[in-house]
Amino acid sequence: MSNPSLLILAGDGIGPEVMGQVRRIIDWYGEKRDLKFDVSEDLVGGAAYDAHGTPLHDDTMAKAQEVDAVLLGAVGGPKYDVLDFSVKPERGLLRLRKEMDLYANLRPAQCFDALADFSSLKRDVVAGLDIMIVRELTSGIYFGEPRGIFEEGNERVGINTQRYTESEIERVARSAFELARRRGNKVCSMEKANVMESGILWREVVQKIHDEEYPDVELSHMYADAGAMQLCRWPKQFDVIVTDNLFGDLLSDAAAMLTGSLGMLPSASLGAPMANGRPKAMYEPVHGSAPDIAGQGKANPIACILSFAMALRYSFDQGAEADRLEAAIEKVLRDGVRTADLLGEEGATPVSTSEMGDAILAALDSSL
Ligand code: NAD
Repeated sequence: MSNPSLLILAGDGIGPEVMGQVRRIIDWYGEKRDLKFDVSEDLVGGAAYDAHGTPLHDDTMAKAQEVDAVLLGAVGGPKYDVLDFSVKPERGLLRLRKEMDLYANLRPAQCFDALADFSSLKRDVVAGLDIMIVRELTSGIYFGEPRGIFEEGNERVGINTQRYTESEIERVARSAFELARRRGNKVCSMEKANVMESGILWREVVQKIHDEEYPDVELSHMYADAGAMQLCRWPKQFDVIVTDNLFGDLLSDAAAMLTGSLGMLPSASLGAPMANGRPKAMYEPVHGSAPDIAGQGKANPIACILSFAMALRYSFDQGAEADRLEAAIEKVLRDGVRTADLLGEEGATPVSTSEMGDAILAALDSSL
C-alpha cells in the first residue's frame, strides 16, 4: 500500500518557519515510528502571487484535491495589502476551503496545565480544559443571498442573509457527533432559535440526526448568547460544540483565547469523505503570518505542530501517535521551555523556533 499523502503549503511570513519544525516532526515519525508520508510542497498566498501572479495556482488546487490532507502555514503580509481584492493572499486560502468544500471547521480549545496561568480566567476554570468547537464553514450569513449595500428611499441599507439548507445542517451535525464519539461523547448545539427561523431549523435538524443516527451521544441545545456566557463561566461543562458560521466565528475565537497564546492554537477544516473513507481535510494554525516577527526565529511552532497532530488523529487514524505528540508538547511546556509569546512578564530567556522544535523532538525520543 502506498504511503498517505500530504501537501504542505507553508505560505508567507512565519508560515515557512513554523512549517520547518513540522517537517522535522514528520521525518521523526517516518524514522522512529515507521509512519511514512508522501510529502509534496507548493506555494500559496503571497508566495504564490510572487511566483505566478495568483495566490493559488490551478495546479496547486488540483494537487490539494488529490492528497489525503493539506497542511497550511499562514498567508498574507503588508507587502500584499495593496493588491486587488481578487489576488490578495487570503483569496488562496478561501479558494482551497471553497473548492475542497471544507464545511466543518474544528477549533479545539485546549489548555495545557503549564500554561493555565496565561489565561485571563482563573486557573481552576481553565486548567485541563479540552473542548472542540465545530463551526459550519461554507454557508450561513457569510454566503447567503441577497447581500450587498442598496439604495432604499433616501438612504442606503446593508443586507446579509442567513440561509441554511437541511442537508448543510445535517452534514456538519454528523461531523460533530462523529467527533464526540472519539472524545467525551457530548454535543451542545448552539443557535438562536428564540429569534431566528434558521435557528429553529438548525435545532430541529440536529435533534433529528441525533435521534436517528447518534442516540448514544448526549445532546443538548443552548442559545448562542447564553453559550458565550457559559464558555466564560465554566467552559469545562462542554465537550463538542456545534454551531453555524457566524456564531462559530465568534465563539471559537472567544474559546480559543481562554487558553492563552495565538501561537498555541491549531485548527482543522474537514469536508465529505473521499473514496478511501478519509475526509477531505486541511489543517492549519489559527494564527496569521505574523509579519512583526517573521524571519527572526521567534515564532512559536506549536500551533502548527498541533495542527499536524490533528491530521494524525482525524485524517490518518493515528490517535495514539497524536496523543504522543501532544504529550511531548505538554512535557516541553512543563519543563519550562518557552518561545517569547509564552513568556509574559517574567523576563526569562525565550527559545527560538528551532530550539522549540529540538525540545519537542527530544521529548518524542524520550517517549519511546
Ligand atoms: P497574526 O496572527 O499574524 O499576528 C497577531 C499577533 O500574534 C502578532 O503580534 C504576532 O507576532 C503574534 N503571533 C501570531 N502567531 C504567532 C506565533 N506562532 N508565535 C508567536 N507569536 C505569534 O495576525 P495579524 O497580525 O492580524 O495578521 C498578519 C497577517 O496575517 C495579515 O496579512 C493577515 O491578513 C494574515 N492572516 C492570515 C491568516 C491565515 O493565514 N490563516 C489568519 C489571520 C491573519
